[in-house]
Amino acid sequence: MAKLEEYIPIVGQSIIDDLRLLADKLKGKTIQHINSTSVGGGVAEILSRMSPLIKDLGVDAKWDVIKGGEQFFEVTKKFHNVLHGRPEEVTDKDFEVFMETSRHNIESMETQADIMFIHDPQPIALVNKKSGNKWIWRCHIDVSNPNKRVWEFLMDFIVKYDSAVFSSPSFAQKLPIRQFLISPSIDPLSEKNMELAPEIIDAVLKKYGIIRNKPIITQISRFDRLKDPLGVIDAYSLVKKYIDCQLILAGGTAADDPEGAKVIDEVIEKAKGDSDIHILLLSQNDIEVNALQRASDVIIQKSLKEGFGLTVAEALWKAKPVVASNVGGIPLQIKHKYSGLLCHSIDGAGFAIKQLLNSPGYAKRLGENGREHIRNNYLITRHIKEYMLLFLSLYHPEEVVYL
Ligand code: UDP
Repeated sequence: MAKLEEYIPIVGQSIIDDLRLLADKLKGKTIQHINSTSVGGGVAEILSRMSPLIKDLGVDAKWDVIKGGEQFFEVTKKFHNVLHGRPEEVTDKDFEVFMETSRHNIESMETQADIMFIHDPQPIALVNKKSGNKWIWRCHIDVSNPNKRVWEFLMDFIVKYDSAVFSSPSFAQKLPIRQFLISPSIDPLSEKNMELAPEIIDAVLKKYGIIRNKPIITQISRFDRLKDPLGVIDAYSLVKKYIDCQLILAGGTAADDPEGAKVIDEVIEKAKGDSDIHILLLSQNDIEVNALQRASDVIIQKSLKEGFGLTVAEALWKAKPVVASNVGGIPLQIKHKYSGLLCHSIDGAGFAIKQLLNSPGYAKRLGENGREHIRNNYLITRHIKEYMLLFLSLYHPEEVVYL
């Protein structure tokens, strides 16, 4: 794990001084993060980097994961989908399954830290165990247009929290508790984002049988319909008519996502017959993700919905030109035609990719602007600072806190 000092050349001394100052004010407080998976997806990615750094600051933080069976995660995935506006039927039985598992977790989990930090809907009901400590609900997903019934169900729990945190202003909700807007972040020193020697990049490409004889377009994402992998293939096919290129669709599944296997089958079926489409099933390997991003000429993130889209920040940090949908937290990261290109459709995505492949100078400029935008706004040091201010605000409920 990187030490705090190692971030100074990247973000400057004063940011690290701020962190130490704030950490000092939190001395003696214990913090406990709880989410639903230790691997796969953006939340696990952030927690695995953040928890050790907060500890390095001298703040006592730990991270636990709820337990749940197949049925529970099928229900929570359904909740996830309908909260993102997908039409699926939610039944009374689904709520029963959710509560049944929640009751087991409430019984078995320790929740005594001074500050309980609960991530996303899956563990939300743990707040029923609240007893005098402070509880934060951290919503990482796009709830700008949630299914009413599920949102109302969640509201019964949300109101018991002290504060809620959302990633983007467009997700803010009418709530009777204080809410904060805090964007996620990437860690520039993690294996996923650190500089890589060219030989490592070459070795990863070799492992997957990819030859750099034509431009590489890449989307790295869990195989989830909301990431629209089929739409990515359509966009690539449009480009392919004009420019001989290849597509990498790489991803794994998350432990709390039971739908992945079905989506992978659909993707394989659609890609049949085109040997320039590489579908890579990654095991959790950050260096490989890093290498694939660095080897790419254009990164695409054609999500239909997105909480924040860490993959976009990861690509921009590597100064890659990115084409991404104008959804969720993506427009915070991509200012259209400045730090990347936003798209609204398959045609739009295809057109933008073609434009970038045809204008390498322009593509390079967008990538460089993107890297600076991420440096200034979406690195882990800013994120930790805002979380510590949030923690302190819990003890000053009447004061306005400027983040
Ligand atoms: N990721 C990974 N391996 C994969 C697919 C994704 O390590 O096979 C990582 C990706 O690099 C990013 C995170 O998982 O760090 C995904 O976060 P994002 O916010 O983009 O989407 P989420 O999966 O949380 O919806």
